[in-house]
Amino acid sequence: MSGRYDIEGLKARLSGIRTEENPALVKQKSRDFFWYSPTLKRQLESVTGDIVVSPKTRDEVIATLAAAHALGIPVTPRGTGTGNYGQAMPLSGGIVLDLSGFAQVLEIGHGRVVAEPGAVIAAIDKVTRADSRQEMRLHPSTYHTASIGGFIAGGSGGIGSIRWGGLRDAGNIVSLEVVTMEASPRVLTLGGDDLHKVSHAYGTNGIITKVEMPLAPAYAWVDVIVGCETLRGAAELANMLGEQDGLLLKELAVVAAPVPHDHFKRHQKFLPREKHLVMAMVADFALDPFLALVRRHKGAELLMRSDTLSPEEAKGLPPVFELSWNHTTLRALRDDPTVTYLQVLYPFPNQVELVARIHERFGDELPAHLEFVKFDGKVTCFGLPLVRFTSEERLEEIMAIHEEMGAPIFNPHRYTLEEGGMKQTDEVQLAFKREADPQGLLNPGKMIAWEDPSYDYKSGKTFLFRGLAEG
Ligand code: FAD
Repeated sequence: MSGRYDIEGLKARLSGIRTEENPALVKQKSRDFFWYSPTLKRQLESVTGDIVVSPKTRDEVIATLAAAHALGIPVTPRGTGTGNYGQAMPLSGGIVLDLSGFAQVLEIGHGRVVAEPGAVIAAIDKVTRADSRQEMRLHPSTYHTASIGGFIAGGSGGIGSIRWGGLRDAGNIVSLEVVTMEASPRVLTLGGDDLHKVSHAYGTNGIITKVEMPLAPAYAWVDVIVGCETLRGAAELANMLGEQDGLLLKELAVVAAPVPHDHFKRHQKFLPREKHLVMAMVADFALDPFLALVRRHKGAELLMRSDTLSPEEAKGLPPVFELSWNHTTLRALRDDPTVTYLQVLYPFPNQVELVARIHERFGDELPAHLEFVKFDGKVTCFGLPLVRFTSEERLEEIMAIHEEMGAPIFNPHRYTLEEGGMKQTDEVQLAFKREADPQGLLNPGKMIAWEDPSYDYKSGKTFLFRGLAEG
């Protein structure tokens, strides 16, 4: 046996299942969009697995987990690797379980679809639209590349959240089939409250092998971009539009000037540099009332609607959802590698006031980006502001000021579940890990509660997984 793990022994047990050991290819599949964060870039740059195993069926997943369990080899699941907190990076090496080829749509019903975990979300929609004019309620802005299993295990919401809330809100996942990491892996079907055991658990306590998701009617969505004179005006307009119960919207965001003009290159011709944008996806039949409300808003001006563009004007334009959520960050980062970002909640009911106060305080250091969502039945907004990065210390300071001002941060510069989330142990996920992965072989290092039960989240320190510290 060479190296950390008995990879030869593993391969002997996996005959017939696709594996890859070329170090360059393994490294490629050991990465995600962690480099969004200067902190994670520094910490995770050298992380790599030892082998990629690519099961295409549930039986192949079970065989892989049983073999890895017998040999004590860690397994880090991966959909298509678009997560941006290093979720899918194998901190202890071992197996990268590439699920992207396990990707069939299995069944479509009225209001629901059943699919394998590696199915790309846009590919699911293509099938459900053709079958019965239905589509997924929610998708990340990485719609064209992200897998449904990765979205459930590593994502949180996105396009559709203005209507349907977050992915973990009751009703947004119907059921999940999960395989455990034991000598004889079990196949469990989870629904209701049990979904919390594995949704957004980064694959630390089970491998999702089948998903059942609710569908909504597929409408013709029109992209609309409105310009406003002030950030506050744009936030007020978006908030008011989001509160209209009869207006069917799938996306509603605000991006502060001059980010859109400077970084939304293909849309640049529509975007005066000084305008703060409200960007929306509006159902075609709701467009007239939407525009009537915009006209009534002081200082608002329609800059683009996708349904009236000439073929020449429309050529090469990405959809508005690819200007939103983390695509806003991506577009700025491509032009200016010193930019990074934050994830902020501006709690209901003072969200607009809070946005205005925070952005007045930071000025150009923190260009605003708001995503309006339904949160426990109320419309409010999350922020993914850009940050003109100077140092990790300053970044920490900016986050501390947000929290002091009443805007909680979901830190995107941490690779652990807890530090990126509620900064406390998730007892449900921890209990399920004890049951489903007693040896702690699934995605090691991502759940602090498992690695270091006495960890003090209030210490102000960053958790450093010992596997990384040794590496
Ligand atoms: P991966 O990155 O491969 O995996 C994500 C996590 O899930 C990892 O921890 C992995 O170990 C685990 N995992 C994967 N498959 C399984 C499985 N079958 N069983 C158990 N665990 C599994 N996220 C949002 O929520 N909303 C957004 O709008 C959004 N926009 C984005 C925009 C950009 C430009 C980028 C780079 C990222 C964005 N993200 C967003 C993050 C990410 O794209 C999504 O969360 C996406 O759904 C992840 O899917 P994936 O297949 O790439 O998962």
